[in-house]
Amino acid sequence: MVAEDLDERLRLAVFAHLDRLSAAHSDGIPSKVINTFSFDGESMPLVVQPGIWKPRSLSAALTIRTTFTPPGQEPPYEDAVGPDGLVRYKWQGTDPMDAHNRALREAMHQQRPLVYFYPVARATYHALYPVYLIDEDLTRHEVVLDTVPIGQSAGSPLERQYAQRLTTYRLHQQVFRPRVLRAYRSRCAMCRLGHASLLDAAHIVADKQEHGDPVVPNGLALCKIHHAAYDVHILGVRPDYQVEVREDILDEIDGPMLRHGLQEMHGARIQVPRAPRERPDPERLERRYERFLSPAA
Ligand SMILES: [Zn+2]
Repeated sequence: MVAEDLDERLRLAVFAHLDRLSAAHSDGIPSKVINTFSFDGESMPLVVQPGIWKPRSLSAALTIRTTFTPPGQEPPYEDAVGPDGLVRYKWQGTDPMDAHNRALREAMHQQRPLVYFYPVARATYHALYPVYLIDEDLTRHEVVLDTVPIGQSAGSPLERQYAQRLTTYRLHQQVFRPRVLRAYRSRCAMCRLGHASLLDAAHIVADKQEHGDPVVPNGLALCKIHHAAYDVHILGVRPDYQVEVREDILDEIDGPMLRHGLQEMHGARIQVPRAPRERPDPERLERRYERFLSPAA
């Protein structure tokens, strides 16, 4: 029998720990750092092997985790999407009575909030919480994740309810920023500004357009100014990574932000990630560059 308050206290302490870490690690939290957690004076790792974890003091799972798969490699098992778009999480193996799977089921029955560690890079995670298990599929050996517990969203307007749900699309959107920032070592691709709080993960091809997926080759780490300038076509990036500044902006005379921040970018090359598979996709750059050349089209 687990004391109600212990379970709740522990989960809230974990969330508070992750609130602090998420704010300080906008390019993903290393598992070593996540595992500095302690509770009631005892250290307690949160990222462990295998992916489902229940501390001995609880009856229900506390954290779940998906392992990092390098881009271009097949994941060992797919955390697939269901017809409802909600994220699925695979059991440990296929035995429904496995202790890990029973801990998952218990979290579902008790509607306990869990943490879902989703990979940004090897041993580096984005922490999603609270996450609830709202259903289990015994034949597919998986549970269905959501951001709202069973029953709680009843009565809220449908659109808002849907906007809050943990769809695969939203999951990928959420890890887009930490993944792009990490690929660019938390620096603006144009001016090298290195303050994560002033950086965005900009889409090359806009979200929801064809090829607008939230993946690193469709992203650029840009500071706020360069992101905004890129979005309104003051700046363009050619498929060969060279920056072009709009002609009328080049002719303007004004202070240091215009001169250094914009005009001097003309002809510069953006800094791209070292790994080829993380570099901006030339086809997407070209598509976007065409919009820069004729923004009204
Ligand atoms: Zn910049």
